[in-house]
Amino acid sequence: MVPQSLNHHVPQCPIILIMHTYQQPNTDGHFGQFGGSFASETLSLPLRELHLAFQKYAKSTEFLAEFHDELVHFVGRPTPIYHAKRLSHEMGGAQIYLKREDLNHTGAHKINNTIGQALLALRMGKTRVIAETGAGQHGVATATICARYNLPCIVYMGSEDMRRQQPNVQRMQILGAEVVPVESGSKTLKDALNEAMRDWVKNVDNTFYIIGTVAGPQPYPEMVRHFQSVIGQESMLQMPKFLSGGQPDYVLACVGGGSNAIGIFYPYIPYPEVRLIGVEAAGKGLDTPYHAASLQKGSVGILHGNRTYILQNDDGQIIDTHSISAGLDYPGVGPEHAHLKELGRVQYLGATDDEALQAFHRLCRTEGIIPALESSHALAYALKLAPTLRRDQSILVCLSGRGDKDLATVLSYQ
Ligand SMILES: *Cc1c(COP(=O)(O)O)cnc(C)c1O
Repeated sequence: MVPQSLNHHVPQCPIILIMHTYQQPNTDGHFGQFGGSFASETLSLPLRELHLAFQKYAKSTEFLAEFHDELVHFVGRPTPIYHAKRLSHEMGGAQIYLKREDLNHTGAHKINNTIGQALLALRMGKTRVIAETGAGQHGVATATICARYNLPCIVYMGSEDMRRQQPNVQRMQILGAEVVPVESGSKTLKDALNEAMRDWVKNVDNTFYIIGTVAGPQPYPEMVRHFQSVIGQESMLQMPKFLSGGQPDYVLACVGGGSNAIGIFYPYIPYPEVRLIGVEAAGKGLDTPYHAASLQKGSVGILHGNRTYILQNDDGQIIDTHSISAGLDYPGVGPEHAHLKELGRVQYLGATDDEALQAFHRLCRTEGIIPALESSHALAYALKLAPTLRRDQSILVCLSGRGDKDLATVLSYQ
């Protein structure tokens, strides 16, 4: 049975994180056959140190209190849940609720995780932060928190991505970060990932590598999940107020690397009566080469230090992904999602560029909310699902970010 409210477990504070025993990776960081740690010899000790530090601080009340304080006063948490009544009425079926991660400082869920990792960096005595970014969203969140904590910040970004995401490059620079163009390969995210790893190997003594999604070698997938699961913890406390004490029938989230999705899914995993659906970018269609649907169309391989589903050719080369939303343009996916897919606990589907764009416009016009194009993928599937359900059923959608950054893309889309 789904708990009506978790008040029982968390007496005063809605966003103290609960460590679940369910779905912890095993000691070498595997979620089933996925995950693990495939990194160079030089990194194995630093990764172990990071793992120990994470385990120590994840349980420390002092650490959790500071994390919580930052989420409240710097980020603006808890984020509200919004009942999209007009939209639900138009679709003529289930009630649609939005978890408003778009209202976070910097406009998306990514800041939750960067704060957690930056607080760890400070406690571990690291004096320099590196990150890699594709669309620039994670770079902006990292640059933001580095400004806040006075940490030098170096962000690796493919030069092609820098050209496509100029406003985010400028944001990072204004916040004081150094953006390093990566000229190798296709000059995009996968090349930036390699450069960041190379930097880390060279400077591991004083450097903390902040990874932006539930990928990377152990302990990153578990650590990022931990910091992002505040989304689901809050939702579990908030939904009963709308549903006479109940929980939603469905929870939907878009999946790039999978951090906002794991964040909202995680606390619901033990309760199978809540159906969980992850929505990947189907781009121009899953039967074309132009998509970013690693879980539906990829095969098992190693990327970014872990074993997961990746989009690769017959020679094991990563292939270029496509999505209208730059933030879903990741050629892999967090290993825990691969495991959840294999277990059948989460269903993974796609939304195309066109469907995401229609959902984007529909939310703008019916509710006065401009969603990120990434989040519009989750919304697009909600719009398909809602009419097939009864009016007394409910769908909770993770609105992972706001869409101001996407206006140029939307306006130029033919
Ligand atoms: C980066 C980003 C995503 C995709 O990343 P996940 O790790 O899959 O959550 C989704 N939505 C927004 C708004 C983003 O910025």
